[in-house]
Amino acid sequence: MIIQKSSREIMLMRAAGIITARALHATGKAVEPGVTTLELDTICRKVIEEAGATPTFLGYNGFPGSACISVNDQVIHGIPSKDVKLKEGDIVSIDVGACIGGFNGDSAYTFACGDISKEARALLDATEQSLYEGIAMAKTGNRIGDIGSTIQKYVEMRGYSVVREFTGHGVGADLHEDPSVPNYGTPGRGVRLAPGMTLAIEPMVNAGGKAIKILPDGWTVMTQDGSLSAHFEHSIAITADGPVILTALE
Ligand code: MG
Ligand code: MG
Repeated sequence: MIIQKSSREIMLMRAAGIITARALHATGKAVEPGVTTLELDTICRKVIEEAGATPTFLGYNGFPGSACISVNDQVIHGIPSKDVKLKEGDIVSIDVGACIGGFNGDSAYTFACGDISKEARALLDATEQSLYEGIAMAKTGNRIGDIGSTIQKYVEMRGYSVVREFTGHGVGADLHEDPSVPNYGTPGRGVRLAPGMTLAIEPMVNAGGKAIKILPDGWTVMTQDGSLSAHFEHSIAITADGPVILTALE
């Protein structure tokens, strides 16, 4: 069931989104060679809790961190660890959720650790831009397939692939609500978009093939071929005036 939000509820979601954005920004600023992903997680948790919010991911289905931190060929759901020390040239996907006032923000960004290769930079730029191409399609009267097909086309034209097994989703009082928002699809197909829908749009883009594998830890999703992967996400609201990004920084 898709839960459409009132304008008041969308304001509450924006409040959660700003805290999510601040936490993501602060955590990303700390990305540098020598830092562990557990240290990054601690920063994330601190920013969220000092804002009076709750880290949504902490304890979610038993997840042990406040952020998912996925390095290089890790796609999503990387577990923060004192044993994972960042190196120059790594790409670091950080996914953050914060809950306040009964609503969640959900946002992700892939950061560069020091100088990264030209290939890695191109992957990050394309994945980030594919998110904005998808968001631009999230308007009243369009359909879910218009978002996914736009992202897919943008990514595949550049020789990359989109992950199929994980998708974007509705977001609100629950972190994951209906509908599912795939990063692939057919234009004009799927649920029709209407004002009050709030969606997390989140392309996961592999430099190589689309296939993934999950580590024995039950969480970490990796590319099967070992290629790099990037992940960018915003929570957005569909309004009569078009999409509004709830997890933009201020
Ligand atoms: Mg997320
Ligand atoms: Mg999400």
